[in-house]
Amino acid sequence: MVEAAERLGRGNIFRAVTREELAKRTGSSSHIAGVCETINGTVHPERLGVALARIAKKLGVEIYEHTRVMALERTRPAVLRTKRGSVTADRVVIATNAWAASVPELRREFVCVGSAIVATPPIPDRLADIGWTGGESITDSQATVTYYRTTRDGRIIFGKGGGRLYYTGEPSEAVFHDPVGIREATADFRRVYPMLADVPLARTRSGPINRTYDSLPLLGTIPDAPHIIYGIGWSGNGVSPSRIGGRILAGLALGRRERWTENGLVNRHARRFPPEPLRYLGGSLVRATMMRKDRSEIANHPTSWVDRGLANLAPAGLEDKK
Ligand SMILES: Cc1cc2nc3c(=O)[nH]c(=O)nc-3n(C[C@H](O)[C@H](O)[C@H](O)COP(=O)(O)OP(=O)(O)OC[C@H]3O[C@@H](n4cnc5c(N)ncnc54)[C@H](O)[C@@H]3O)c2cc1C
Repeated sequence: MVEAAERLGRGNIFRAVTREELAKRTGSSSHIAGVCETINGTVHPERLGVALARIAKKLGVEIYEHTRVMALERTRPAVLRTKRGSVTADRVVIATNAWAASVPELRREFVCVGSAIVATPPIPDRLADIGWTGGESITDSQATVTYYRTTRDGRIIFGKGGGRLYYTGEPSEAVFHDPVGIREATADFRRVYPMLADVPLARTRSGPINRTYDSLPLLGTIPDAPHIIYGIGWSGNGVSPSRIGGRILAGLALGRRERWTENGLVNRHARRFPPEPLRYLGGSLVRATMMRKDRSEIANHPTSWVDRGLANLAPAGLEDKK
């Protein structure tokens, strides 16, 4: 990634960080090597959502929260049916994350996996003790990736992706309370920050990630219903790219021909996942292998050739397959 950025003349984005600097800035000596993304930043996702909604409302957009679309009729105009009413629209944008499994054309384009986060209470003094005071947000290169940051009030939020695989279909409420995912995130938090072993966890949460085969999002129009537009498959990294995704979806909805609608991300063909039950059984096996491979690499134990081979079947992502 660093070399690719350099080749493209954007070498200023990344800077290699020594092990000493890593330990000093992250407060943990568990990291082996690292890269600092100098232009990165963090957002408070709820505040971002609330602010966007406020602006949208000012522009005349009507927002109906807690209103599930039960059926989408692909007539022209399309009709979206909810429990207590319906909406007709010339164009419809499907941006329903893992719940897009209800659309037959999209069902095999992604798998739904869990991601889980845990949060400490505010511990600003402890952060000062370990030296993690610069607001660094950190992510590692495990296939079952971990990601962690501090908050302004001095909490640590620590998450783990690449969690359990869900059987094809719309996720149920249970996806928000996955005890296994939360246990795995907790274990990695305790491993990276053993000096905070006495700090309790104030909050835990899990959620669905829709992961495409090549980890890139899918944006386009349904082939037999070009008035139905979709933007899905952010593979666990949807917050920052949603800006680009929003422009693409807006361009498609307005029927514009411009650089946002005429590029390689739009209407691309990605490799599809196999049908069930093959996908769930095969995917769960590959996922268990990835976990084992990550654990042996962390412990500096050799990985078996079987595990290396099976782990290579996983969708591309943040991990280094070499
Ligand atoms: C624990 C966790 C940590 C994460 N951390 C990060 C991170 O650090 N950085 C990052 O970039 N990304 C992160 N992500 C991923 C990020 O949340 C997603 O990529 C992003 O939210 C995807 O945006 P979206 O608009 O496609 O889907 P969502 O934000 O999930 O929105 C989809 C919406 O569609 C609604 N919906 C579904 N079905 C229907 C229906 N039938 N009718 C009406 N509404 C419906 C849902 O209720 C939901 O509100 C994380 C995800 C999880 C779960």
